[in-house]
Amino acid sequence: MEMPVPNANVVSRKARLVERLRDVLPSDAVIDDEFETRAYECDALTAYRCPPLCVVLPRTTEEVSAVLKICSDMGVPVVPRGAGTSLAGGALPTADSVILGVARMNDVLETNYDDRYIKVQTGRTNLSVTGAVEADDFFYAPDPSSQLACAIAGNIAMNSGGAHCLKYGVTTNNLLGVKMVLMDGTVVEVGGAHLDASGYDLLGLICGSEGQLGVVTEATLRILRKPEGARPVLMGFNSNEVAGACVSDIIKAGVLPVAIEFMDRPVIRATDAFSGAGYPDCEALLIVEVEGSEAEIDEQLGVILQIARKHDPVELRESKSAEESAKIWLGRKSAFGAMGQINDYMCLDGTIPVSSLPFVLKRIGELSQDYGLDVGNVFHAGDGNMHPLILFDANKPGDLERCEAMGADILRLCVEAGGCLTGEHGVGIEKRDLMVDQFTPEDLDIQMKVKDVFDPSWLLNPAKVFPLKSSETRRAA
Ligand SMILES: Cc1cc2nc3c(=O)[nH]c(=O)nc-3n(C[C@H](O)[C@H](O)[C@H](O)COP(=O)(O)OP(=O)(O)OC[C@H]3O[C@@H](n4cnc5c(N)ncnc54)[C@H](O)[C@@H]3O)c2cc1C
Repeated sequence: MEMPVPNANVVSRKARLVERLRDVLPSDAVIDDEFETRAYECDALTAYRCPPLCVVLPRTTEEVSAVLKICSDMGVPVVPRGAGTSLAGGALPTADSVILGVARMNDVLETNYDDRYIKVQTGRTNLSVTGAVEADDFFYAPDPSSQLACAIAGNIAMNSGGAHCLKYGVTTNNLLGVKMVLMDGTVVEVGGAHLDASGYDLLGLICGSEGQLGVVTEATLRILRKPEGARPVLMGFNSNEVAGACVSDIIKAGVLPVAIEFMDRPVIRATDAFSGAGYPDCEALLIVEVEGSEAEIDEQLGVILQIARKHDPVELRESKSAEESAKIWLGRKSAFGAMGQINDYMCLDGTIPVSSLPFVLKRIGELSQDYGLDVGNVFHAGDGNMHPLILFDANKPGDLERCEAMGADILRLCVEAGGCLTGEHGVGIEKRDLMVDQFTPEDLDIQMKVKDVFDPSWLLNPAKVFPLKSSETRRAA
């Protein structure tokens, strides 16, 4: 993966930069030791690594503002970072950049049950947002599988989703307002604690902007009352294509499960061994969950099971207890970790119209044979949000390059099928050079003009989202 040539002028002034950062931050909040900065050399896309110039870990919006003023003044690139779980290389540093990590900014600032919102510092982890309100029977809906670790900061930047987003929407549908610091240190507030805002939908622009427009320090999030009950069903099928067709038929029928998750044989095997979820022995597995009162659950499942039976399932198993449901979800949520235990892999994230699932799954199988690399599929099928995991050997020369080429072909396939390059993981460095397959030069130009407004020097999160050549030309202008 090509990265920009580090700015020698910036690198040569590291000592002065660190000195100035130490003037505005507590001493434990600036890390410039060569070995300690290594902990920040990559995110969850571990194939690409580069230690940053230094790392800062502020605790307040004021400290973030002071850091950005200094970096702006000295022309130093800044890479915002939450928990570093990006699978798209979104938080990968450049050798001349400062990592600005918000992990220490994790306070709950306000909880309001009457108006159903919570205000947090964005370093707070996704799961601990629900943790702060669950005793009062509320929850925060977007639930990435990484929710134990990932921060609201990264969720906002990537517009993250999760298994239960089929019903509740992704981050942008659950975000009411943000406080954000621009590259020159200016603090702005966008949105509030209410639905929609006057004027342009800047909140919609910021959510999913991948650290390109500013550093988000506070967020107001919608919280919801916990449903009365929920019940998952396991559905086993004889092939990926048949399971894909079943998903398409469920969506077409107009019932709205809270989640429809898909796993194929390699993932079922690895996950079951890892978590003891008790999954059936089959080629493809769906977890379909509905929620509501007992009567609502029975009615929705009646329709869904009738559809499933038409696809000759090898197994239909309703959960009988809260413990069984938890086990079923533990398996799915640990799927990436389970696959990581047995192989190096690259996780893709393309989205397609649900009706093309059978065709796209078949083509992925063919590409796997063409490239000689195995693929595991585990994804949010109800949203058509696919996550092919391409297995490769990081120690075998040429394997990573083959994996990258195959990944690019799969993502182009998603675009050709009427979908897009990313459903929830973002573009990062992983897909930046494929943006030309999705957008015309004019489409890309209008997006880059938005960055011109927020970050005219193009110092925030360099080399991400836009094709490298285009962003470097813009930075130099
Ligand atoms: C095992 C595993 C499972 C996953 N499952 C899912 C899933 O189900 N759904 C899903 O959507 N994703 C999933 N992901 C991907 C990842 O967890 C999400 O993209 C997550 O939102 C990243 O959050 P983070 O705090 O780790 O962000 P980071 O990785 O630190 O950063 C991600 C991006 O956010 C930007 N950023 C960070 N902080 C700020 C800030 N304060 N202001 C502005 N920009 C900022 C960074 O510059 C970067 O571009 C998974 C990852 C793993 C490793």
